[in-house]
Amino acid sequence: MTGQDFDYLTRRVADLILTSRRVVVFTGAGISTESGIPDFRGPGGLWTKYDPEIFTIQRFLHDPEARRLYWKLRGSGKFMHPDVQPNPAHYAVAELEKIGKLDCVITQNVDGLHEMAGNSPDKVIHLHGTMEKVKCLQCGRQYSMDEVYQWMSQGIEVPDCPQCEGLLKPQVVFFGEAMPVWETAEAQRRSENCDLCIVIGSSLVVYPAALMPQYALQGGARLAIINREATDLDPSADVCIHEGAGKTMSTIMAIVREVMGNR
Ligand code: NAD
Repeated sequence: MTGQDFDYLTRRVADLILTSRRVVVFTGAGISTESGIPDFRGPGGLWTKYDPEIFTIQRFLHDPEARRLYWKLRGSGKFMHPDVQPNPAHYAVAELEKIGKLDCVITQNVDGLHEMAGNSPDKVIHLHGTMEKVKCLQCGRQYSMDEVYQWMSQGIEVPDCPQCEGLLKPQVVFFGEAMPVWETAEAQRRSENCDLCIVIGSSLVVYPAALMPQYALQGGARLAIINREATDLDPSADVCIHEGAGKTMSTIMAIVREVMGNR
């Protein structure tokens, strides 16, 4: 993309934001790669190194070897380093809330970086759960992921419940697992009622999450997609920018800030 194209397209997205009242931001793993968390399907993503079959809920529940690999990857920080920080794209989304434009963020991510960047928890809908908590499937006790990391640092390879030795499962939606009912319905309702949907860093191939921008279009909203690679929804979008999320979102918000400051 030439510099001129980038300037033109970022201005167009800024215009869409300035002329909207209820913006829904839909985010995927690509918004967090610049924070050092690998995505699944981008070049160099986790699925280029591991078989996604290993990470289904069925394998996690019934195959001790799959569970061992899961916790090994978690403990090694290859999924997500414990000291991970938001990047400029997360801060730009938080700024949309500060200027009163954001209806909500619908995220597929489990990393908690939107809240760390300053979005209020009640503005973030987690479609695929969060990594912050772990639950015992036998007695129902909850533990923080920090506690689990502490046990692992003391040599425990596959953590189980300290109270009842039941199986511990992170509060994330695994492949093959049902979506959370309230979050899915609320995300659909918000998408149908927004006037602008901005997709940031999602391949839009994971369903039903990827339906959300489609619900926005069906409700009459305009659509902007910011993703390094093309997506199947690009032909339906008002603007597509195939560039890094951090640079793109901070450029867009600088334009929005400038125009709002001059009003
Ligand atoms: P995905 O891996 O299918 O697609 C990510 C997309 O982001 C790719 O198309 C890639 O080209 C693009 N991308 C990568 N870096 C980018 C950047 N800096 N700027 C702009 N675009 C960039 O991700 P998905 O659509 O979110 O689906 C994967 C599933 O995996 C989700 O359900 C999510 O829950 C989970 N996941 C979450 C995390 C996380 O919490 N950070 C990380 C990996 C996977």
